[in-house]
Amino acid sequence: MRVAVFLGSSPGPPAHRDCVTALADGLVARNIGIVYGGAQVGLMGLLAERALAAGGEVIGVIPRDLFAREVPHRGVTRLVEVDSMHERKAQMAELADAFVALPGGVGTLEELFEVFTWRLLGIHDKPVTLLDPDGFYDPLVDQLDRVVAQGYLSADKRAALGRVRTVDELLASYDAPS
Ligand code: AMP
Repeated sequence: MRVAVFLGSSPGPPAHRDCVTALADGLVARNIGIVYGGAQVGLMGLLAERALAAGGEVIGVIPRDLFAREVPHRGVTRLVEVDSMHERKAQMAELADAFVALPGGVGTLEELFEVFTWRLLGIHDKPVTLLDPDGFYDPLVDQLDRVVAQGYLSADKRAALGRVRTVDELLASYDAPS
């Protein structure tokens, strides 16, 4: 199994960094491979470093024109260089069996909402989960509840985006029948 992880290209606060290292450890311990955006910076770089140090499989997918800004991680198991953001997301989606979003910026939100939308449209049926250690995503969850309350999305479909607080909960959700 491989999980695509979306997370910030900035370092974020310590609670988020702790969650990233716990995720790397948890995935490697379960022999689950990681697909991510291939960068060496921020939470993204931390995830790759930690998982690689523990002997895990890490596949990075990075657009060539981002090399200057995000610096590709050359130590990953496999670095896939692509020509565009669109290609990056398509490749990540194809390589992964599940998606998880940790705290991050607008890029993370964009990636999360794309795979969530694809799931709603039936383009894939892979799990999409927020790993939210400290309530960072509370306002986003509130907004989604408002989207449902005002009739823009059914509660059923809304439920396709899960949220967990811990890595153990995330891993347990992969064991549960969906
Ligand atoms: P951020 O959460 O903004 O720090 O960005 C996290 C990752 O999302 C980085 O690797 C960005 O390059 C990436 N990203 C930003 N915008 C997009 C986009 N439109 N499509 C795909 N990836 C993006």
